[in-house]
Amino acid sequence: MRTFPLKAFTRVPVDCPAVTDSLAVAQVDLGAVAHNVSLVAARTRAQVMAVVKADGFGHGAVPVARAALSAGATWLGVTSATEALELRDAGIDAPILSWLHHAGADFTALVGRHVDVGVSTLAQLYRAASAGGRARVHLKADTGMSRNGACAQEWGELVAWAAKLEAEGAVEVHAVWSHLAAADVPGDASIDRQVAAFGDAVGAARAAGLRPAMLHLANSAATLTRPDLHLDLCRIGLAGYGIEPVPGREHGLRPAMTLVTSVVNVKRVPAGTGVSYHHDHVTAGPATLALIPAGYADGLPSAAQDRASVLIGGRLRPIVGRISMDQCVVDAGELPVRLGDPVVVFGSGEHGEPTAAQWAAWAGTCPHDILTGVGPRVARQYLPEKANV
Ligand SMILES: *Cc1c(COP(=O)(O)O)cnc(C)c1O
Repeated sequence: MRTFPLKAFTRVPVDCPAVTDSLAVAQVDLGAVAHNVSLVAARTRAQVMAVVKADGFGHGAVPVARAALSAGATWLGVTSATEALELRDAGIDAPILSWLHHAGADFTALVGRHVDVGVSTLAQLYRAASAGGRARVHLKADTGMSRNGACAQEWGELVAWAAKLEAEGAVEVHAVWSHLAAADVPGDASIDRQVAAFGDAVGAARAAGLRPAMLHLANSAATLTRPDLHLDLCRIGLAGYGIEPVPGREHGLRPAMTLVTSVVNVKRVPAGTGVSYHHDHVTAGPATLALIPAGYADGLPSAAQDRASVLIGGRLRPIVGRISMDQCVVDAGELPVRLGDPVVVFGSGEHGEPTAAQWAAWAGTCPHDILTGVGPRVARQYLPEKANV
C-alpha cells in the first residue's frame, strides 16, 4: 500500500485510530436496557410490555427485546406486522401485540404466528375474525386522545360484534386497552378523564358479555407516576431505553444509547469567519473549528441549531451554524482538538455529555424523536448485557 507523508500537510498526528469504519456509532448498552426493565418490573405487580416499535426506538428491536425479556418483561409491543414478524423470525416466542394496520391488512400471518392484534375498528375486527385461526385481539378504546381506538359512539357496536365473534370461536378478546394523551404531565386533568372513560369502556365490554383477561392503559410516564393505572400490563417504551418520561423526575433509569463520532477536520480561523450554510454563524474571535461527520440524517436535528453542544476533549462545546445533512461544525474555542478525537453527541450524561432528553429540549421535541431519528447509516454497536448488570 502506498503511504502518504500526511504529516507534511497537517499539524496533527495521523496515527489516531478510527472509531470504526462508520462515521458515527450508536453504542447500545443492553445492560442498561435490562437494568431499566427490571427497575420498572420491581415497581409493579402488573406484567411489563417492552415496546420495541421503530426498531426498538432506534436501538435494534431484536437485541432490545431479548434484553428486556431476560430482565422481566413478558410482552413485546410493536406497531406493525413487519416489526412483529421480525421478532418471530428471530426466534422470539414471547407474546407480542401489534396495533397499527393499513386499511387492507390481512392478519393471516400475524394470527398464524401467534401475534395479538390491536383492534380499533369494526373492519379490523372482521379481518381478524377471518384470519383463519382464533385471533387473539386487544380491543382499543379511544378514551380521549383522538388518535387510534374506537371512540365512545363506536364502542358499543365494536364490543357487541366482538362478543358475537368470540362466541363463534373466531376471535378471543384477550384485552381491552387505551392510551393516555398526557401521562407525562402528572396531574393533567385529561388523565383522570381518560381513566373514567376507560372504566366506561370496560363496563360496556363486560355488559356485552366479554371477559377480557387483561386491561392496559399505562405508558412509561403513567407506569412511573400512577401505580393505580398499572392494571394488568404496563407498556413501556422510553423508560426501557433509560430516558425519564417525566422531565425533572429521577427514578434511576440509565440511558442505553450513546451516539459517538469523531473529528474529521480541524481548522484555526480568525474572528469574523462565516460558518456553514448561509453563514448563520460568524466567529466572534479566533477559534478552532472541528468538523464532525454527523448531521440531521444521522439524528442531530437541525432544529437544535444555536442551542446544541457536544462533548469534545472532555468539554461541552457548541455546534455552530447550520447542522447539515451529514456534518456539522463545533466551535472548539482554544481546546487542543486533533483529528480523530472522539466526540460524544449524546449519552448517559455521566461524563458531562448531553443526553437525548437535552437534545429533545434543544430541538423542541420529545426524546422519542431524538432516539428514533438516529439514521440507518449510523452503525449500532452492542455492549454486552452481562458485563453491565
Ligand atoms: C409508543 C407507545 C407506548 C410506549 O410509550 P412510552 O411513552 O415510550 O412509554 C405505549 N403504548 C402505545 C400505544 C404506544 O404507541
